[in-house]
Amino acid sequence: MTRVAVLGSTGSIGTQALDVIRRHHARHPGEWEVVALAAGRNTELLAAQAAEFGVAPARARSGLDDAGALAELAALDDVDVVLNAVVGFAGLPATIAALEAGKRLALANKESLIAGGPVVRAARQRGGGEIVPVDSEHSALYQALRGGTRDEVARLVLTASGGPFRGRTRDELALVTVEDALKHPTWNMGAKITIDSSTLMNKGLEVIEAHELFDVDYDQVGVVVHPQSVVHGMVEFCDGAVIAQLSMPDMRLPIGLALGAPERLDEPFGPIDWTALGSLTFEPPDLDAFPCLGLAYSAGRAGGGAPAVLSGANEVAVEAFLERRIPWLAIADVNGGVLSGENGGATGNVRDVDDVLEADRVARERARTAVLRLSSRTGART
Ligand code: MG
Repeated sequence: MTRVAVLGSTGSIGTQALDVIRRHHARHPGEWEVVALAAGRNTELLAAQAAEFGVAPARARSGLDDAGALAELAALDDVDVVLNAVVGFAGLPATIAALEAGKRLALANKESLIAGGPVVRAARQRGGGEIVPVDSEHSALYQALRGGTRDEVARLVLTASGGPFRGRTRDELALVTVEDALKHPTWNMGAKITIDSSTLMNKGLEVIEAHELFDVDYDQVGVVVHPQSVVHGMVEFCDGAVIAQLSMPDMRLPIGLALGAPERLDEPFGPIDWTALGSLTFEPPDLDAFPCLGLAYSAGRAGGGAPAVLSGANEVAVEAFLERRIPWLAIADVNGGVLSGENGGATGNVRDVDDVLEADRVARERARTAVLRLSSRTGART
């Protein structure tokens, strides 16, 4: 039996994970059991989930900002798999606790891996825990990498849908609204990641995530825009062969694979109807209109605390955009300014969680200052 802790159970990934578990249970009763749940503020849904899956009240916790509670659930003795679907930097303690306790970590919280790269790596080595990615692109790479040996891998390619603003120039993006940015063409996701998709920051963070997960150089990670979101990721091998993973956009496929890895589920999610699929297209990303992608490569290459700085600044910038305090284009301005600012890279060594927290704190402080400056300027104009 596999015992699962679902952290972030009421969010988009969390509810889809419980759906996968519910369906798996119907076909294979007793194989998977939910033994812990954690959610943010939606206590009503959390209580309903706990009742449905028979989770003890003490193990169904709300208030995700309680890092201690999250870490405690992730490290419980009777947990085999931790699904970390907490949103943002708050997911870091659970990631570290799960890996140090030697669990399998089904990771949907990319921020913890990105900000805490060196610390997460150390935790993985110390505890012997294993990360299986839930992110669709990295799940695709995880699958395609089975097609050859490590020495044979030439390059990893992440696909990007391009988001709602694909094809627009920088000028055309000056006046886009929160509603425009929240209209993702192919994926139905939470607000933070949907905005990150519209700026291509999500793809940038995924480049860093790929570097951390698969231990490849930044020169070996490419991004290609693929609006249909059917090809999720590809591995190019040394002889020119490319192995890709295709399926219709449905997060339940990568979630199910991460929960049951290395085995596949016996229920298809996002199967392709080839007679109706039509054409698949690919184009290069527009780095001028979407500078966040380039910023992520810079932060990744700088290493140390730079990815934490970028990720922290971005959380503040996205929140400010969602609160309509800054325009969409300013998200990249805030991120770029914080990253390149005085000591902004904070690229010193990141040795422990405190170093990551400090890089994140400094980044947020600088981002808040930048937001204030931008919003007062915008206010003065209107
Ligand atoms: Mg993704």
